[in-house]
Amino acid sequence: MESLFTNQDLFPDEGQNSFADIILPVPIPRMFTYRIPGALSSQIQIGARVIVQFGRKKVLTGIIGKVHNKPPKAYDAKPILDVLDDQPSVNPLQIRFWVWMAEYYCCHIGEVMLAALPSGLRLSSESKVQLNPNFIAEESQYPLDAREEMILEALENTPELSYEDCEKILGIKTIHPILKSLVIKEAILIFERVQDKYTPKVETRIRLKTEIAQDKKALEAIFEDLSGKAKQESILLKYLRDIPVFNNPALNEKGLDKATLLEEGDSESSLKTLIKNGVFESFRQVVNRIDETEITAGELILSEKQEVAVNEIKTHFESKQTVLLHGITGSGKTEIYIQLIKEVLESGSQVLMLLPEIALTTQIVARLKQVFGGQMGVYHSKYSDNERVEVWNGVISGRFPFVVGVRSSIFLPFDSLGMIIVDEEHESSYKQFDPAPRFQARDAAIMLAYFHQAKTLLGSATPSFESYFNATEGGKYGLVELPERYGNSNLPTFYISDIGADKRKNLLKVDSTRMMREKIQDALSKQEQVLIFQNRRGYSPYIQCEDCGWTGQCIQCDVSLTYHQFAEELRCHYCGYKEKVPSSCPACGSSQLATMGMGTERIEESLSLLFPEARIGRMDLDTTRSKYGYQKILDEFGARHIDILVGTQMITKGLDFGNVTVVGVWDGDRILNFPDFRSGERAYQQITQVAGRAGRREAKGSVIIQSRKVEEYIYQQVIKGDYFEFYQHEIHERKKFYYPPFVKLIKITTRHTDYKTAEKAAHDLHRQMAGIAVKKIVLGPEKAIIGRIKNQYQFESLIKLERSGTTQTEFKSQLAQIQENIIAKPEFRSVRFIVDVDPN
Ligand code: ADP
Ligand code: ZN
Ligand code: ZN
Repeated sequence: MESLFTNQDLFPDEGQNSFADIILPVPIPRMFTYRIPGALSSQIQIGARVIVQFGRKKVLTGIIGKVHNKPPKAYDAKPILDVLDDQPSVNPLQIRFWVWMAEYYCCHIGEVMLAALPSGLRLSSESKVQLNPNFIAEESQYPLDAREEMILEALENTPELSYEDCEKILGIKTIHPILKSLVIKEAILIFERVQDKYTPKVETRIRLKTEIAQDKKALEAIFEDLSGKAKQESILLKYLRDIPVFNNPALNEKGLDKATLLEEGDSESSLKTLIKNGVFESFRQVVNRIDETEITAGELILSEKQEVAVNEIKTHFESKQTVLLHGITGSGKTEIYIQLIKEVLESGSQVLMLLPEIALTTQIVARLKQVFGGQMGVYHSKYSDNERVEVWNGVISGRFPFVVGVRSSIFLPFDSLGMIIVDEEHESSYKQFDPAPRFQARDAAIMLAYFHQAKTLLGSATPSFESYFNATEGGKYGLVELPERYGNSNLPTFYISDIGADKRKNLLKVDSTRMMREKIQDALSKQEQVLIFQNRRGYSPYIQCEDCGWTGQCIQCDVSLTYHQFAEELRCHYCGYKEKVPSSCPACGSSQLATMGMGTERIEESLSLLFPEARIGRMDLDTTRSKYGYQKILDEFGARHIDILVGTQMITKGLDFGNVTVVGVWDGDRILNFPDFRSGERAYQQITQVAGRAGRREAKGSVIIQSRKVEEYIYQQVIKGDYFEFYQHEIHERKKFYYPPFVKLIKITTRHTDYKTAEKAAHDLHRQMAGIAVKKIVLGPEKAIIGRIKNQYQFESLIKLERSGTTQTEFKSQLAQIQENIIAKPEFRSVRFIVDVDPN
């Protein structure tokens, strides 16, 4: 392909752009310059996908980021091999956003591209096998064995096979030695086939021949012909039942899909005969994977307070780009969003609404679908590549002016956003930890809205301190408060249950948990439902030898292994390592191995012993791995097929089940003990949110928190429910000790398989960072809380920067240089630095 375009004559005239900078999905901090062959010059547009050769062998899909006339200095530009899009897949605003993201979050634009572009829009290459045209079996000097013969035989019938095809033919997984041997014997050729990853979904549909659909007499004649042929007649009747062409012949156009037409008992061959005899015709049609939902909602009347809130938000938007809606749990924020979304859509602009992942499968999406129907796209992290491409294309085509999605939906190709809503804006899942870009979707959404000249609405019952600060003393955002629940519902009553005296292992059997048990019993007897929150999955957090104190440790990480009873395994929750549960202590041989502490699995087990009549469900990472995992459990809970639902933080988010009256917080103190400046804020948010699931209708709710520190300040604050008071107390500390929102944080983790190397590199980095001439505080380097993960030792440095933009830009650009310098030293070549801007 390349030789085609090397001819100088194909070059565009002077004045035309002859080079393009291409964004490629590689971890190198820049774009790459390629030559625009004359034959392609008319197709070159910013944001279009192109195919280029990268390195010696690779063929990559890239995005045109820029066109210009400057040949690269250091290398000879290779030509662009092909342009894939007539309409650019990525618009200029998106590219601007990507560039901003790479700079702000200290990563490479190729990494942003990887996160942003659904992999279905990239090309994939697959190894294929072809018969060597020069190979003549009779003349071959090498004998072929039976398996090789099988492959060659198959290739005589099909021109090419994939590796997967070969595996199927041979019925084995390790086909490589066989293929290699065939290549040596010059019988086959192996080559890379580049192909589109996205495959549209195609359906076979059936319709009446147009002449027949439009002519009642012809149809009658056919029925006469069919008399006695009951099978064919029944298919025709079924068709006419579903598509009443008598009344409206135009209906015939769309036809019926084959599976719907053929009812049980109908034979395919009868349909074939009908097609052969010219009654029906079949045609193939590309169909949507994402279903069209009809609008089913009736008019809903906002309460007076909601009405006021809507107006306040709109007034703020006149002078502010961002507004924070602080509305307590159950105050009816969703209806406020709906009202605003409607207005923005009517004005012709697009709307994006971000939700935490789990909330996407719950009632809020169902509610929005009722109102917005098919013009609302959902962008879920469990979607397949093909589904993602369909949402992406639906945004470009205008099919979805409104999208509800997880954090990665900020990358969709919007070109005229009017508003972005970030619901539950305090949610820590808006931050992407790994891989880069390590972005905070709420903050990035505000930036994206700014590029679109759009508005951002943040909503939460427990705002992040950053947002609340900006909405109050910071003065940047508008603030709208909704301090009461919608309708006749009140906030629940809190009980702190003192478990201090109990040292026994099963907290459910001892006296101090009597309150939790009684409340559960009480709810069950009234057919009400219960949520129990414990943020530890598995059976018990660790097992211990009662004789020598041995505990199971991960071989790759500095953490103890969690006991999973159902799987009979000890598992590492950091790296996935697992092993069978030992029958005796590996250290001393004792058989006294005790399970310590309670995870969700064990709580579920204990509850089923205590309440044998109750139906108990569990929702954690282990029970929700499949695509519809959450949905299934929540549907069952909603249908009241589950009485008590035990779960990790998944059950704390956004659920609106009217029949839940009791919420139990299993081991409240654990939520408090996070060694982090945000721990107070987090604990307050988590407990308030989970408590907010209780008593959301008329029936009053109860929340029981089990604790050994009943006097704890945060519990008192949660019970009091005065967010502002709590905020003021905490923000004071933040100011005093220089923490966000008063400074910007950057965390840098240094990783290496060798402890000493990691430590040395971290110190080297530290020394050099200290030399950067901006106002800052550099803390560390210290061994990370978990000192080793997957055999990588890790050290952390924390940098506190003043909030000014120029300070940050200056620091970040020098930081990149310092890292490069360190990695250039031979001893640090395989050291990795992970830069996390605004860490969680
Ligand atoms: P939040 O998101 O603020 O916690 P929701 O939006 O889930 O609260 O609302 C709480 C409950 O009140 C929901 O069941 C919702 O259907 C109901 N609700 C809110 N506003 C209205 C309204 N204007 N009319 C009828 N029901 C409402
Ligand atoms: Zn032991
Ligand atoms: Zn591990």
